[in-house]
Amino acid sequence: MDVTSEKFAENANRALHDPGLQAALKRATGKFVNERLRAVAELPGFEALREQGRAIKQAALDRLPQLLEIFEEKVIERGGYVHWARDASDANQLVINLARSEGVKTIVKSKSMTTEETGLNHALTEAGFTTVETDLGEYILQLDEDYPSHIIAPAVHKTKEQVADIFERTLKEKNPPEAGIPGLNAIARRTLRERFLSAEMGITGANFAVAETGTIVIVENEGNAALATTLPKIHVAVIGIEKIVPRFNDLAVLLKLLPRSATGQRLTSYTNFLTGPAKEGEEGPQKLHVILLDNGRTRIYADDKLNGSLRCIRCGACLNACPVYQKTGGHAYGWVYPGPIGAVISPQYLGMDHGHVLPYASSLCGACYEVCPVKIEIPHMLLELRNRVVEKPSHATGAPARRNFFEALSFKIFAIAGRFPWLWQAATTVGRHLLRAKASAGVVGKVSLPVLSNWTRERDLPEPARESFLQQWKARRP
Ligand code: SF4
Repeated sequence: MDVTSEKFAENANRALHDPGLQAALKRATGKFVNERLRAVAELPGFEALREQGRAIKQAALDRLPQLLEIFEEKVIERGGYVHWARDASDANQLVINLARSEGVKTIVKSKSMTTEETGLNHALTEAGFTTVETDLGEYILQLDEDYPSHIIAPAVHKTKEQVADIFERTLKEKNPPEAGIPGLNAIARRTLRERFLSAEMGITGANFAVAETGTIVIVENEGNAALATTLPKIHVAVIGIEKIVPRFNDLAVLLKLLPRSATGQRLTSYTNFLTGPAKEGEEGPQKLHVILLDNGRTRIYADDKLNGSLRCIRCGACLNACPVYQKTGGHAYGWVYPGPIGAVISPQYLGMDHGHVLPYASSLCGACYEVCPVKIEIPHMLLELRNRVVEKPSHATGAPARRNFFEALSFKIFAIAGRFPWLWQAATTVGRHLLRAKASAGVVGKVSLPVLSNWTRERDLPEPARESFLQQWKARRP
């Protein structure tokens, strides 16, 4: 996909003027937020559980090199194969080579943000394979040549009417309006079933990879991951190296946190535990290949200030809680990872030339941190990234730091005025009177000054009070 993260403002503006998208976002994020609140409220000690989740993922990161080797050893011990991919093209080429060597023609995929990140579908199509997404949301997007706008609900930006149009146009299947969503589900189920039965390879990601047992864990609600890892004779799992957890017991905590934070479920409909290929007499794939993907993760790992972002378990709660995501949706972020966590990790994966705008796509209200099941300090990381954007040349190209002249000047003036109380009071008194003179009906209109003109273009600046806070405070003191 084309990366457009640097055009966040433009993308967001388009999203804000799309009434269909606004309605879909309001409905979906509102539902997710409420369901999460309900699920959290019914579990006593959820805060302590968040702390445990944070500790488990952090401990896993602290020992990551060692745990990866243990995981590799265990997968091989159970009869699987492990491959290491340095970057996206490495990972894609590994899958293509495996498919070619096994004479594969048709591939089914279950939802995986990691393979979205590597652009695997595109690479497989270019290489001549028929690849079918089997998660309903992903399937809809594949048919419409679109891409996900949410980590767990990829087609959240589509209405059911749009989906009916897509099915009619691409599958030549008409869904009568009275059949509604169940009718759409039935069409997808019918067409996908044939694909599952004919596919020779199933590709998945993983929610967790357990080092001590070599187990891959996939949570889902549709059963498509279960079919994609059972029916085809080969299972390929493309897993980011940060998905490792040390022990099977750790899942007792993480599987309580993930579904509750994601969809407000106590447990997803299916939780798949896959340890090695099928043994003699068992159902399942004859071969299991695990591809462990770096693609920038070791670079993030080496960054003391930002490596906590690798704790992310991709639940999507921070997207739903974010007032910016709630209005812009995921496509505005211009790459596969949207929302607050996308604003943190996309600049790290893509480099600042693409990602430098994203750390500003936040009001820093802290809602993302409040809901994060593994307590990632997203607001602090966004500030750190903003600092890097302003202070440092681009890491990737050595291009000069990105400073906004007027913003820098305003802060310089602010710093000087803040040092001299008489100057501060004089400046704020003059400013207050000027704004009051301009105000009408309690609102100052657009202010034609650098920085402020942008701020007041979309917002109502309230008329300042007649007296300053200091004056009011002095008058109230006994
Ligand atoms: S940052 Fe936290 S809340 Fe956001 S997707 Fe990751 S784990 Fe979930």
